Amino acid sequence: MTSARTVTVGTASAAPGTTVRGVIPVTELGGGTPLAIPVVVINGAAPGRCFWVNGAIHGDEPEGPLACQIALAEVDPAQLAGTLVLCPVLNVPAFEAAQRGNPLDTFTYDMNRIYPGRPDGYLSERVAAAHAAAMGPVADLEISIHSGGAHSFLDKAIFVDERPESVELATAMGPGWGCIMSSFNPTGSPMAYMKELGKVGITVELGGRSATSPKEFARVGRELADSILNILRHYEMYPGDAAYPSPRYRGQQQALLAPASGIFLPEPGVEFLTMMRQGDSIARIVNVFGDTLARLEAPADGMFFGLRALPNVTTGDWCCFFCKVEGRRD
Ligand SMILES: [Zn+2]
Repeated sequence: MTSARTVTVGTASAAPGTTVRGVIPVTELGGGTPLAIPVVVINGAAPGRCFWVNGAIHGDEPEGPLACQIALAEVDPAQLAGTLVLCPVLNVPAFEAAQRGNPLDTFTYDMNRIYPGRPDGYLSERVAAAHAAAMGPVADLEISIHSGGAHSFLDKAIFVDERPESVELATAMGPGWGCIMSSFNPTGSPMAYMKELGKVGITVELGGRSATSPKEFARVGRELADSILNILRHYEMYPGDAAYPSPRYRGQQQALLAPASGIFLPEPGVEFLTMMRQGDSIARIVNVFGDTLARLEAPADGMFFGLRALPNVTTGDWCCFFCKVEGRRD
């Protein structure tokens, strides 16, 4: 890190102090157009770490792309020490279809389970392999931005691998990001691949179906972009002071599934990211006449960070993302 150098990702080659757009090529499609992952390299005038941001590995989660757009507009390479790489849309065919995975690839539909991919595998595995090959040698720190997508709203929540450096990156997301859980997905994600390389990655969640109205979507994008800037400041890559969440909890995600079919009605007054006691009521499922069929209760002391957005619910549907809180981190 004695002097800044040119950083190349795919077709984007950025000299120190410049921002360059490009793509990570994957393959050619049947219609004769290339399939490629868009990328922006914001290369600082001064040397430093490389922080890499990934969006839309799930195609129904447009919050990552919005956060990347805001960061691209605001981060000045002249003031940056190190490199910020933005991949706004990883799973391009899924994003174009506005679906979680590529609808044409049912064998490796969930791209967040297949890293580092296979260059000779199914299509999504090839996309993952191209991305992993570009990211691995360059990135030091990585965040993957997720949301509740088509079926849920998720409030600020983070998954870490529990190494101190992973928890540090989570803490650098900034105020409000105190729900920091152990990853339930130890292999197959970009953050798991970063860990395999001895580097640092986390998975973050904010937004989803019930926060896609114009004002709410803008708010979510702004908050995620603020976290990108906060991380740059925490690692002394950008001017300004970082801020941190308090309280900070540790815990595990638990999915609460619908025990009955009907209409999903959260209890009035229950709040996201607010401590509850085991047995507290989160929501009811009622039939078409309003009779209560079942109740969703806190399975342990903790907090919910996500609720399904669509009230129509069928037995077995994912209703609630609950964090079983196991203690404080601060
Ligand atoms: Zn996701």
